[in-house]
Amino acid sequence: MNSNEMIEILSDNTNNDWLFSEADKIRHENVGDEVHLRGLIEFSNICKRQCKYCGLRSANKEVERYRILKDELLTYAQKAVKMGYRTLVLQSGEDDFYDTDKMVEIIREIKKLDVALTLSIGEKTYDEYKAFKNAGVDRYLLRIETTDKKLYGNMHPNASYENRKQCLYDLKRLGYETGTGCLVGLPNQTIESLADDILFFKELDADMVGIGPFIPHEQTPLADAKKGDFWLALKVMALIRINLPDINIPATTAMETLNPNGRIIALKSGANVVMPNVTSKEYRAKYEIYPNKICINENPEQCRGCIEGKIKAIGRTISGEKGFRQRKNNS
Ligand code: SAH
Repeated sequence: MNSNEMIEILSDNTNNDWLFSEADKIRHENVGDEVHLRGLIEFSNICKRQCKYCGLRSANKEVERYRILKDELLTYAQKAVKMGYRTLVLQSGEDDFYDTDKMVEIIREIKKLDVALTLSIGEKTYDEYKAFKNAGVDRYLLRIETTDKKLYGNMHPNASYENRKQCLYDLKRLGYETGTGCLVGLPNQTIESLADDILFFKELDADMVGIGPFIPHEQTPLADAKKGDFWLALKVMALIRINLPDINIPATTAMETLNPNGRIIALKSGANVVMPNVTSKEYRAKYEIYPNKICINENPEQCRGCIEGKIKAIGRTISGEKGFRQRKNNS
């Protein structure tokens, strides 16, 4: 699709049913009915950045900060593998405590567990990404957040849009399965820029794209901003499935925060991945990138059981594979 076609679809709600069922069909034809579960470990909520929407921004003095150190982190990883996870995702704020050596040690230990490993720890140098890759990391998640340069500048004080983009190209060049994505509903974000975001995912040849509605957090400069629209986020996600048929697309936690059935609706509108939290209760509430995060009182076993039940109830199955992108001939 070109930009105009996408803008037309995003601006008009009369064809939503068609859009969601078309995305569901393309998902079925290209990536099948299996859902890949990725076990998410949120290992540090310490962050040096100031992203205006994020509750973990360093200026927020009201969060109780934590770091999970290597040994404890490994116990979560082992537990997750025992529960059946074949991919683990390590996510954190940009916390320089975990330097390259510390990360490489953690990566090497986790890779002994025979799992695919994803990092989501922000902007690093080419050499750092290279060291992680050499240590065995398979995938990296780094959302571009928005391709509207001006909006990007407004949302990310002291950060560079060009650098974020460069990071994504570096990750691709190093052979990572590269995940990116955007927020939907940021203040002053336009429909036109959402179409540009999708074109960017295509240009990058993203292997995974996660879309989340923006949810205002009280302890940020965007406390009084309007929250993102669940259905618009879902439409962006469905368009991504139609335009990048064989990639992995998560049903995101932020979608479920805005709609109690959000992840299942997303799985029926193009998504094929879910990322349940495998960190223990004591940390979940503290990793508050946005408020009212789901499952903060659950433990990892409950999360796994709950989402498995929901997935099976819609006639889909849980994959036992690591779930790499399987390219189709046309992509
Ligand atoms: N430090 C890492 C991980 C960031 S947290 C990085 O820079 O990549 C993961 C994602 O949460 C972010 O990329 C952002 O898109 C999302 N997020 C942050 N604050 C949010 C909010 N208020 N509402 C919805 N999503 C948010």
